[in-house]
Amino acid sequence: GRMLPDAMNTKEIYAKHLKRTKGTFYTRFPPEPNGFLHIGHAKSINFNFGLAKRKDGKTYLRYDDTNPIVEKGVYIDSIRENVTWLGFTPFKVTFSSDYFQELYELAVQMIKSGDAYVCHETAVQIKHSRDYRRKHKKSLPSPYRNRSVEENLELFERMKAGKYAAGAATLRMKGDLDHDNPNMWDPVAYRIIFAAHPHVGDRWCIYPSYDYTHCIVDSLEDVSASCCTLEFENRRESYFWLLDVLKIYKPVVWEFSRLNLEYTVLSKRRLIRLVEDHHVSGWDDPRLFTINGVRRRGIPAKAINNFCEKIGVSRSNNYISPKVLNHCARELLDPTSIRGMCVLDPLKITLENYPEGKVEEIECLNVPQNSDLGVHRDPFSRIVYIERSDFRLVDSKSFYGLAPGKEVRLKYAYNMKCERVIQDESGNVSELICSVDFNNTNTIKHGHLHWVAQPNPGQDPPKVELRLYELLFKSKRPGRINTDDSKAADDTVPDNGEDEENDAEDTSETPKWLLDLNDNSLSVVNAFASRSVVDRAASWIDLPAWECAFQFERVGYFCKDPDSTPEHLVFNRTLALRESKDK
Ligand code: ATP
Ligand code: MG
Ligand code: MG
Repeated sequence: GRMLPDAMNTKEIYAKHLKRTKGTFYTRFPPEPNGFLHIGHAKSINFNFGLAKRKDGKTYLRYDDTNPIVEKGVYIDSIRENVTWLGFTPFKVTFSSDYFQELYELAVQMIKSGDAYVCHETAVQIKHSRDYRRKHKKSLPSPYRNRSVEENLELFERMKAGKYAAGAATLRMKGDLDHDNPNMWDPVAYRIIFAAHPHVGDRWCIYPSYDYTHCIVDSLEDVSASCCTLEFENRRESYFWLLDVLKIYKPVVWEFSRLNLEYTVLSKRRLIRLVEDHHVSGWDDPRLFTINGVRRRGIPAKAINNFCEKIGVSRSNNYISPKVLNHCARELLDPTSIRGMCVLDPLKITLENYPEGKVEEIECLNVPQNSDLGVHRDPFSRIVYIERSDFRLVDSKSFYGLAPGKEVRLKYAYNMKCERVIQDESGNVSELICSVDFNNTNTIKHGHLHWVAQPNPGQDPPKVELRLYELLFKSKRPGRINTDDSKAADDTVPDNGEDEENDAEDTSETPKWLLDLNDNSLSVVNAFASRSVVDRAASWIDLPAWECAFQFERVGYFCKDPDSTPEHLVFNRTLALRESKDK
């Protein structure tokens, strides 16, 4: 019988292989360019590039592009760009389609050795014989299985020459119909597809299947370790079987669990639904955990990599809390993000003892814990705005904000005391009259409020648009009965990437997981911003928006959104300041 690498000593395989590669350890990241990358792909990228790096090796970015119907140039470009943004440099960028000629020649070799045949069973018929095999433990071989080599060679040429309609013929590998593993039941190697391919154009009308292509290209590229997610585990057998038949190098294969994140969905089918139904603004909506979405929200690439390293790689099912990613982002943003002030729900204050017409410049450190990062200056004047929620008519012990007769500190500026409250007919507070203590006589421990002042007498502070995000879903595992004990749920549920199979069966208008959408995941606020924020954001025109990161004091971490124009700045809230405020 043919030997599986499992049965051999992995060390031995590596030793032999590394001799041939002159010591270079190769890995690959093999996305199909049929969608945008998400944080799960980042785990795979981080792992494959990381593994090679630890061994002084090299990593291919290989587009697994064998189905021209679903693959597109925009995905090819975006994937490349995302890998670069994440900080990884592929040793080479390759395409499975670069090997179409070799793959074709190997198929001919298989026909010649009697290991493949042209089959005219329809997809429905193939499925029927497989179901029959499962149910009755008895195989139903294709009626075309025993054709002569000559006939198969001729028919395969006809397939290649476009003489058949799509679906009228396939090339099938002669596997083992009595094998326990269904992937060994004569898998399809080639099918006919009349569609232009995004990388090789219309040269071909026969396209190799994933099962046929993946292992061969791993072998041709001399990949040392072929790492993939667990749902591919049952394909090991056909992977090694095929390379044995072709008598070519067999890489070491191993699997790790997919990353699943709580309170979101990652599978392509679900992401497409969210985008197409306009539940989100696009593939890069900051509420999505696509790479483009997370980036637009302002999460640094390094935080994603730190997150991937933190969660590690194993074979156990994992649903990870988004708080783990938030933690990694805060760690990086806190010591680097430039401070600024924004008031979301302004309450007007007139400082009665502050000279009319006077404007002074208040100096603040860009990052309080690091004076090397410089300072910025913001105007202070007689009219200032504070957050409405920082004032209460009735004070209490646990409230550190302003109240009648009480003194607080306007951050970086003066102590301020509330002298009088102006209310309209219905009792709403419309303005406060306060006084400042130019000497800051009292030490104020708690109650340092953020504020924005009129930059010139009679002139409103600049306005900016803030987009505040919450989680897109109300439940940890959208579409599933919610349970706080996620461990219990994990035991009963196979890890196949968010119940994709259930999705396929759920034909209802609105699938269950969509009912878990959080209707309040986005609020848009027009806020007053301090001048330094606006000036800095406007001067950063040549920087990608996600590089323009701020911390708006007491409100959160923000970054500029690409929707911004010099006249209308838009910021996304990346995160609240503290984990306890995470939503
Ligand atoms: P999806 O269906 O979620 O878009 P996919 O499996 O179709 O993902 P591929 O383009 O085949 O995406 O993925 C490229 C690589 O990324 C594969 O090796 C795959 O195993 C890995 N990968 C995809 N999703 C995840 C995930 N959630 N966690 C870890 N690795 C993943
Ligand atoms: Mg894919
Ligand atoms: Mg998939």
